[in-house]
Amino acid sequence: MLNPFEKLQIPPKANQTIDTMLKRLPKIGGTTVRDREIRRLKEYYERIKKYYDFVEQFPKIDELHPFYLEATRIMTDINKLRICLSVTKKTSVISMKILKKYINQIRKSPENESNRIMRQAFGRVSSVLRKSSECIDRVIDVAKELKKIQGIDPTLPTIVVAGPPNVGKSTLVSKISTAKPEIASYPFTTKEVHVGHVILDDFRIQVIDTPGILDRPEAERNRIERKATNAIRNLNGIIVFMFDSSISSVLSVEGQIELFREVKLLKKIVIPVINKIDEKYEEYYKKIVDFLLSEGNEWHEISAEKGIGIDKLKEELFNLVKSSGTNEVSRD
Ligand code: GDP
Repeated sequence: MLNPFEKLQIPPKANQTIDTMLKRLPKIGGTTVRDREIRRLKEYYERIKKYYDFVEQFPKIDELHPFYLEATRIMTDINKLRICLSVTKKTSVISMKILKKYINQIRKSPENESNRIMRQAFGRVSSVLRKSSECIDRVIDVAKELKKIQGIDPTLPTIVVAGPPNVGKSTLVSKISTAKPEIASYPFTTKEVHVGHVILDDFRIQVIDTPGILDRPEAERNRIERKATNAIRNLNGIIVFMFDSSISSVLSVEGQIELFREVKLLKKIVIPVINKIDEKYEEYYKKIVDFLLSEGNEWHEISAEKGIGIDKLKEELFNLVKSSGTNEVSRD
């Protein structure tokens, strides 16, 4: 599925359009004064029409995939967005009407009135636009952010790879998916997300890592990151949680356990995996194993880098994701 915002043409912010038009005015000429003033208003009309087209092309909120809806919600209150879409449309319709009316008036009036009428029209339209600028700009900001989401297809069955920083998430993505993972962007993180694909019996699976989203405890995430986590719920699939058993682990074992507990709230199926088994540090390894045993978890032990335990993990993950369907857990 294509990002529904991918092809959306986003107009400049309202005040920017006014400023651009002000700068353009002296540069627009014509065969006569009347002709020049009509051309000026026509150009303004074309620029305003971009707002109309923008709203018309804006994907229908009620038809958005939950992943995109959630991403939208991260940015703005949905009802406010609906109102702002309608304000943007109304503003453009009214402004276009005003411009048409004044263009006609210039045509019918004596030529020496043309410049005065153009100025009046310009002032009125700019004031209408300015009054709605906050709303128009909000819609533009939302669209710009959503347009950035690339490479993630929320309709595909997905394996999300989570875990502390440096645990080996992107290494695992590249080990379990066939092609070289692409770099994608996830809403509201500036970090690169790796997306790999696996084709299995005509079945396409997407594998993504989650830098900056699911890699540190909730309390350390900012508001946007916390909300970004929520969008993960709307990806259709399962989560692999990687524990780091090496001495170089960024998070303490306790920190990793806390993170694992939080990640478990996101999806029904969360598979624990202990990574860096080739360099395991006995004390950490034992603490992780004791915790997993105490909670009745089954886990995999792997070395993503050395390829140890990967085939068995792959087999289980692919079987689970194929049969997982939608396995969102309820929102809190
Ligand atoms: P991410 O930040 O979780 O995506 O981690 P990366 O995949 O970028 O890996 C971080 C570092 O750990 C890299 O230097 C990897 O080479 C290394 N690494 C990943 N998996 C293993 C492993 O199984 N064993 C060891 N020893 N190093 C690993």
